[in-house]
Order: sequence, then C-alpha cells, then structure tokens
Amino acid sequence: MLNITVQKTAAPKQKPADEKALGFGKLFTDHMFLMDYTAGQGWHDARIVPYGPLAMDPATSVFHYAQEIFEGMKAYRTAEGRVQLFRPDCNAQRFNDSADRMGMPPIPVEDFIQAVKALVDLERDWVPHSDGASLYIRPFCIATDISLGVHAAKSYLFAVICSPSGAYYAEGLDPVRIYVEDEYIRAAPGLTGFCKCGGNYAASIKAGEKAEELGFSQVLWLDGVEKKYVEEVGSMNIMFKIDGKIYTAACTGTVLPGVTRRSIIELLKDWGYEVIEGPLAVADVMKAADEGKLEEVFGTGTAAVISPVKELDWEGKAALIGDGKIGPLTQKLYDTLTGIQWGRLPDEKGWVVPVE
Ligand SMILES: *Cc1c(COP(=O)(O)O)cnc(C)c1O
Repeated sequence: MLNITVQKTAAPKQKPADEKALGFGKLFTDHMFLMDYTAGQGWHDARIVPYGPLAMDPATSVFHYAQEIFEGMKAYRTAEGRVQLFRPDCNAQRFNDSADRMGMPPIPVEDFIQAVKALVDLERDWVPHSDGASLYIRPFCIATDISLGVHAAKSYLFAVICSPSGAYYAEGLDPVRIYVEDEYIRAAPGLTGFCKCGGNYAASIKAGEKAEELGFSQVLWLDGVEKKYVEEVGSMNIMFKIDGKIYTAACTGTVLPGVTRRSIIELLKDWGYEVIEGPLAVADVMKAADEGKLEEVFGTGTAAVISPVKELDWEGKAALIGDGKIGPLTQKLYDTLTGIQWGRLPDEKGWVVPVE
C-alpha cells in the first residue's frame, strides 16, 4: 500500500468544450503521479503533483541508452457516470514483465493499480462523456542515473500521466489498408518484442513513415528471422479469420501480449470459435485471399480497441478482405468489448474495476 501525498494545482486547465476534437494523446490533465526508486531503498515518495515538465540533467541515462518502459490503458465513463478501468492487473503484470527484460525494478501489482486509481480518481472530471471517448492513461518508467556508463541504473522514476482522448483513428471504424513490411523488422527471438519499451517504437518509426508515404495507415510486421510469418501491426496485435477459424501469432517473445488480444481470444472461444495461436505465413494469407477464404482481418489494442483491415499489400500484391467493409465478427467483437468497457453490457468476466 503506497502512502501517496497529493499537491493540487492552483491553476486548473479549462476542459475541452468539444470532445469530438480531442484527437489522441495531445491534451493532458492537471496532475501526474510520480514515484522514485533508489537502489537499496526501493520505491519511495509516491506523490500526485501538478502536471508539468520534468527537469533532468542532460546526462540522465534514459536519454542515451533508452532504459524505458510504458503501459497504455484507459478509464471509461459509464452512462450512469461511473468511472472504470479494464483489466488493470494485466497492465501491471505486463509492466513488470517489461521491467524484468529491461533490467528495471518491478512495482507491486497492487501499488501500480493504486497509483493509477488515485490519479484517475482525482482527475475523474477529465474522463470524457461522449461516445467512444475515454481517458487514456500512460504509466511509464525511466532510468534516472546521471551517468554515461552502460549498466542498469540505480535510480528510476515511475510516472503516470492522463490524456482525454477521442477515437484513436481519424477514420473511425472504417477499414484500413496495411503495408506488409518486407525490409525492416520489429523483433527477433531474444530481443524485446514482448516489452512495451520505447526502443521498439524508435526502431519502427521509419517503416511507419514509409508505409504512410505509400498511402497505408499501418505496417504489418513479419517475423524477424525468416520474414515469412505475420506477427503484429504497429501498435496492435492482428487476427485473421480464414475459412471460419481465427489465426493470430503466438506470444512467444516477439509479439506484444496485448490485453485486448487476450480478451478477444477469450470471447471468441466462449462463442465457439477455433482460435489458432501460432505461425501463419503471409503467403498463406495471400493465398486465402485469392481463394476467397480471407473473411475478416482486424487489429486489436487498447487505443484503437479494434481496427478492421480491408487490404494487405505484400511485395506489390494486394489481398482484398471481404467486401471492404467491417466484417460481422469484427463488429460483434467491437460492440461486445466496448459494451463491457463502457458499462453497456454486463461484466460477466470480472474485467471491469471501478475507480471509487
Ligand atoms: C500496446 C501494444 C499492443 C496492444 O496491447 P493492448 O494491451 O491490447 O493495448 C500491441 N502491439 C504493440 C506493439 C503494443 O505496443
């Protein structure tokens, strides 16, 4: 149990009048949660303070060697005005899995959740009211040693910031076109693919830019060894419905184990679908499209929830999915998951955690 001190801002910001124009991750709330770690002492000085810049020495190790991890989660406002989180224990656990790989100290799951709840509770008026909008929560941790030596730092800062956000994609639930990246890779066995660390994103930005220039909204990554098997999309896991069965890459170290992915697999199994977690060759996806068996493709992630895909382009060939519109299963998954998250459907799985 953390002892959190609270220093409230003397200058609260104006909340946005038009929630439709929120976008994603551009506006931040009035406060942030901070906590320090010092080797020998552990985590200390848990505090909520006014949101603002962090002053840091230019030699702070995170700037040079990128010892950094983060999480992405949301607070949802129900029609009754309750504010709730979705499976925050999964984020806390994944945060610690990332920390372990990056040589960083873990945070007890209950402390992580307490920190997020305390901040969201204070900022509850910032949780948007309009359909599809939510309060995006970004916990992160950075190495704060002032040293250019390469080794695990002895001091860290854990922070949580919040951003009221609209729908992730400007295009909304409109199906997107995806570019299958055949030059760069995102992950390889033994590396950090399963971690939510900034370094993974830094290495992926160039491919994302290339795809955007070519008119695609995201990159689909292939495995880093053979560049043969589909792994995931920019910031989402990806699933394929082929001839009635659902295929997605297994979480064996190179794929980010998404909370949305895991929840969708549970729902699909409940509904009687066969879900195959394992290698799926991109050539087989293209072949399925040719044979008219590639029924639906969708990305899954907290920010976007579900993003239907209408086209995959690989080595100059295009696979067109369904009739270019969102598929019925994709729509049902979206409606079910968002229904649970926003409190429109009963939470039979115990996924929802109220912020009281
Ligand atoms: C965060 C993330 C996902 C999705 O995870 P969720 O827990 O569902 O939000 C997928 N892939 C990558 C690379 C990610 O960073």
